[in-house]
Formats: sequence, structure tokens, C-alpha cells
Amino acid sequence: MDNREQMNIVIVGHVDHGKSTVIGRLLADTGSLPEGKLEAVQEYCRKNARPFEYAFLLDALKDEQAQGITIDTARSFFKTGKRDYIIIDAPGHIEFLKNMVTGASRAEAALLVIDAKEGIRENSKRHGHIAAMLGIRQVVVLVNKMDLVDFDRQAFETIRREFGEFLHKLNIQPVNFIPLSAFNGDNIAVRSQRTTWYEGPTVLEQLDSLNNRKGNQELPFRMPVQDIYKFTAAGDDRRIVAGTILSGTIRRGDEVVFLPSRKRSVIQSIEGFNVPHRDMAYADEAVGLTLKTQIYIKPGELMVKAQDKQPLVGSRFKANIFWVGKAPLIKNKTYKLKIGTLKIGVKMVEILNIIDAAELNIDTFKDQAEKHDVAECIFETAKPIAFDPVVEMEQTGRFVIVDNYEISGGGIILEQADDDRSSL
Ligand code: GDP
Repeated sequence: MDNREQMNIVIVGHVDHGKSTVIGRLLADTGSLPEGKLEAVQEYCRKNARPFEYAFLLDALKDEQAQGITIDTARSFFKTGKRDYIIIDAPGHIEFLKNMVTGASRAEAALLVIDAKEGIRENSKRHGHIAAMLGIRQVVVLVNKMDLVDFDRQAFETIRREFGEFLHKLNIQPVNFIPLSAFNGDNIAVRSQRTTWYEGPTVLEQLDSLNNRKGNQELPFRMPVQDIYKFTAAGDDRRIVAGTILSGTIRRGDEVVFLPSRKRSVIQSIEGFNVPHRDMAYADEAVGLTLKTQIYIKPGELMVKAQDKQPLVGSRFKANIFWVGKAPLIKNKTYKLKIGTLKIGVKMVEILNIIDAAELNIDTFKDQAEKHDVAECIFETAKPIAFDPVVEMEQTGRFVIVDNYEISGGGIILEQADDDRSSL
């Protein structure tokens, strides 16, 4: 069984600043390429009198992967001694933003490539914005093509200072800035002799030192209540609480809390399909639980363990949403929010930022989100709900918005919004 840890990272940056070259190098320098592939592409370039480009190598790999199946051609894979990486490269792409915001994939970190000679471009900034909107806290800035500025420390420091200030405004504290020449391999896997003034890690060392998300089992216990079944056992009226465990583990005897009602009880028994009376159940399992005391709870509530870190409970939160609705997302209209097993009325009460996914233009003055916009907004639910910020718990930090029976948007919760003291 392969138990290797996996981590998703995104790579962003202005076109031609060197994303493909960084990826190609990472693949080549970690021995993650199929045997002979690099040589074959180099040979092809030589024969056709074209300079070798890592981008050709990626194209060749993608053609191979794409044969016969529809795949996401924006993914590359490489391994280090520590973990397996999936590197996702499609920032200006509608599908990319949709996947990131609506849940198909989440990235733990972003590599943002800036050409040392060309410097910071508008897209470098837009991509910084996207990282912030996606809630990616770990951003590593790769100052590439240092060979074109003679590995000049000053050129590097200027970008570090200016871009560092910009990221700071977005509330991103970059993990590091690394001077590179991706084409030549400087500071990718091997420390460069040409940047002796740089004392930080190589790109691979940096990646291995980043925090990865925890596995589902290790997270706090969360189970949205799907249904409550009543049955009579030994003349006793009992209830079974049914649902799928999103994260964590639960044992007989654990004290549990239902949110938002805050009712408490203790697990009496755990019943799985075909496996009655178990002592413990794990993330991703569908289970039925009986409780020691008969409390009245409703489907849609979130069940958590009393001893675990508690989710937030409130009716206002800040979220990023990817809008796919035919009609725009407008302020103060009532939509339906689905989170876990709960469906509840919700209004978008304020738009803070909007990026259109096709052009990546950022607009702070729009007051409605159109199809394919990513909007940072404040939402207000009809009653308090339980949730987690997505960076802490992906499972309970995601939601969808339904407009007129159609899924019209998917979102991630960034934080609880102010003025929400109602339930505290
Ligand atoms: P992308 O559009 O961001 O994927 O950029 P590419 O990786 O395709 O690189 C754009 C061009 O810059 C290509 O011609 C690369 O060979 C070149 N390039 C990438 N990295 C370096 C570098 O470190 N030094 C130099 N001199 N050129 C580079």
C-alpha cells in the first residue's frame, strides 16, 4: 500500500516568466520523468534545429497522458524523499479557479514566478490576489532568470522588497523569495554557486519544509446529521443519528455536541452497515449512532466531539465564491445555502472584491457577481450555522449556493464576519 503523503501546489506567474521551465526542472531534477523522455525531447530539438525548451517536454508529457482519456492537462507530478507533489498550472483558466473555489482541488501552497529581468508585472500582482482569494497562506516567490541579470543581488532584493510590500497589503506573508535560474537549474534542486549571497533553501528544500494539510483522520471530528431514525428496542424508544463522518474519529462513550443547537449527549453505540456495535468509526464512513440521552436534534446540524476544537457558530461569514449562475449574484436577494447536510436561506450582503476568471481583472467597485466571477463577499444566513474556515477544515468550510433550484455558486469560508455576536 502506498501511504506517501501528497501535497497540491499551484504555480502562477506572468506568461513567459518561466513556469513551465520551473516545472520541467522540478520533474527532471527529482527523477520524476519517464526514462529517456528528456533525452528524446532534447534530441528532437537538435534534429529540428530548435533550442530546447522545458515547455516542449511538458507538452510531450501531456500529450502522452491525454491519450484516450480526458484529463486535466494542467497537472504535473513529482516526488521528493518526503512526499508526492501535484503541481497545478492554469491560473488564468476558468476551470482552474472553479476547481479551486468549489472544491475539486485545494492547494496548500503557491509558487509565484517573477522574471528577474522583466520584474513585477500586472499578472504577478493578479496572481498574488488569486492566492489570497483562494486562502492560500503559503506563497513562495521564485525570482527566475537570475542569469539574465548576472545573478545580481540588488536586482533580487528590489523585487523582494517591492513584491513583499504588495503581498503584505494582501495579508500574505510570503514564506520566502528564492533567486533562480530555472533553465540552468540554479537553486531548484541544487544550491547555486552563483548566488553565494543567498543563504535560504533551494526550491525543493523549501517545498519539503512547507506545511501540508492533515489527513482526514487526524482532524477534529465532524459529522453533519443526515437523518434521525426512530426505533423501539426492548420497549425503549430510541433514535439513531445517521450521517457520513467527514473528518476525525469517534468512539463509544465520547461526548458530542450538536451545532448550532448546542445540545449535548454521549455516544451509546456505533452501528455501521452490516457491522453492528463497533467501538470506533472513522472519517469517510457512513454510520448510525445512538445516544445515551434522548435529545431532540434535527437533520442539518453538525455533530462534533466536545473535546475537539469547536467549529464557529454564527450567521455572518466572509467567503470567496465562484459564480456560475445564469443570473448574477446580487446583494440582499435570498438564495439557498447548502453546507454539509444543511439547507438554509442566505443573502450576500456585501461584495469586497471581484475577479473575473477569464481576464483576471480585479474590480473593487462592482456590486454584483456575474457568471465566472470570483467574488469575495460577506454572506448572512437566516439563522446561525456551524462552519469552519476552509484553511482549518476543508470539509466544513465549503458550501454551494442554489438559485432557483440550480447550483449557482460554490464557495469557501475564509472567516467569521464581524458584528456576529448573536450566538456567542
Ligand atoms: P511560462 O510561460 O511561464 O511557462 O514560461 P516558460 O517556462 O515557457 O519560459 C519562457 C521562456 O523563458 C522560455 O524561452 C524559457 O526557456 C525561458 N526561461 C525560463 N527560465 C529561464 C531562466 O532561468 N533563464 C533564462 N535565460 N531563460 C529562461
